[in-house]
Amino acid sequence: MSKILLGCIADDFTGATDLANNLVRSGMRVVQAIGIPSQPIAADADAVVIALKSRTIAKAEAVEQSLAALRWLQDQGAQQIYFKYCSTFDSTPAGNIGPVTEALMDALANVEGGDFTIATPAFPDNQRSVFKGHLFVGETLLSESGMQNHPLTPMTDANLVRVLQAQCERKVGLIDYRVVAQGEAAIRSRIAQLRGEGVGLAVVDALSNDDLLRLGPALKGMPLVTAGSGVAIGLPSNFGIAPSSHASELPAATGLQAVVSGSCSLATNRQVLAFIKAGRPALGIDPLRIAAGVDVAAEALAWAEPLIQKGPVLVYSTADSNAVKSVQGRLGVEEAGAMVERTVAAIARGLVQRGVRQLVVAGGETSGACVQALNITQMKIGPQIDPGVPWCHASSEAAAGEGVHITLKSGNFGSDDFFTQAFTMLQ
Ligand code: ADP
Repeated sequence: MSKILLGCIADDFTGATDLANNLVRSGMRVVQAIGIPSQPIAADADAVVIALKSRTIAKAEAVEQSLAALRWLQDQGAQQIYFKYCSTFDSTPAGNIGPVTEALMDALANVEGGDFTIATPAFPDNQRSVFKGHLFVGETLLSESGMQNHPLTPMTDANLVRVLQAQCERKVGLIDYRVVAQGEAAIRSRIAQLRGEGVGLAVVDALSNDDLLRLGPALKGMPLVTAGSGVAIGLPSNFGIAPSSHASELPAATGLQAVVSGSCSLATNRQVLAFIKAGRPALGIDPLRIAAGVDVAAEALAWAEPLIQKGPVLVYSTADSNAVKSVQGRLGVEEAGAMVERTVAAIARGLVQRGVRQLVVAGGETSGACVQALNITQMKIGPQIDPGVPWCHASSEAAAGEGVHITLKSGNFGSDDFFTQAFTMLQ
């Protein structure tokens, strides 16, 4: 394998795919690794995105994992490091974005320019913009967007300079929209000014993709960039890479087709309904039967086996919020979640063992469980099906050494006909 250009560390699984997707659309060939690889990756890639699960774990653990990821990426020759977090800046005052950023800066302190980095979750394509350091979700401030009630990472302050400063020892500054609007030279001179004032990190305003594309050239040569996935659209050109359909090329699709869904988000509920309405075979699984000790996975696989020969099938635990609450009330939230995830993952594995080579998985946590059950450790990122959701290609031990096309759709992503559209596009 040749040396990689951009080395990325993502603090969660579907966030890693989101970043990889943006890099591919800008022309980079990207491999996503599930956790820190134990050896160099097999394919030629311009960028590697290491997916960690470090958003809400203990700070020391998040720092340790991120530093290990940095070392692996440096060993592969990465010229620039990209620390990717959520576009809603999910963290608490004791959260991990600041400490991980500073630990990476400490580790890069001897690299020229390593004393300064930027931070911006701006992702205008997904309605996330930063104005005067304040993060907006669509029309509303982050702190009024619903994120103030998030169970794990409530965001009660939209002022990112303040939020980040509370997590950092280094001084945090701002590169505001007026500077960004003037382009590379103005941004570079603002960075020099902030450095002179002893600032180590700057939140950057961005209201549009144009802002992100103006920011990109000013980040050339900066050893560490921290951001949501939006900033990625402006980086590949710094390495002489232009958008090209070659970047998303995957091997030709083969084998049988199936969808498994453990997501109960609104969009997924619509997608399940659309698949059923289209007259396709679909089987709902009942968490209470799993809890009662029935081998629901074996039942589902027996149901699917004759049907998959004729076309795509769907196995789902997807249910509306009332049904989910009732199940959670009887089994407990975590217990119900874990049980359903295990079952859906066992079904995904069984389907691949029975010849499925094109697999759609719906649900963020569900995706993690399925990828683990399939023993997938890295995926080549292919073409985008819908914003934030690309087809990927991976080798899985469950496929007896053959490659599997897989797409991991987080809850609210994808159009209503995603479960059929995904296969159409792959042909
Ligand atoms: P999303 O991306 O939509 O949030 P996830 O897979 O991340 O989907 O999360 C959905 C969670 O709900 C998983 O833990 C899953 O096992 C659980 N779950 C799925 N179906 C049901 C159900 N019918 N009742 C209770 N919990 C469920």
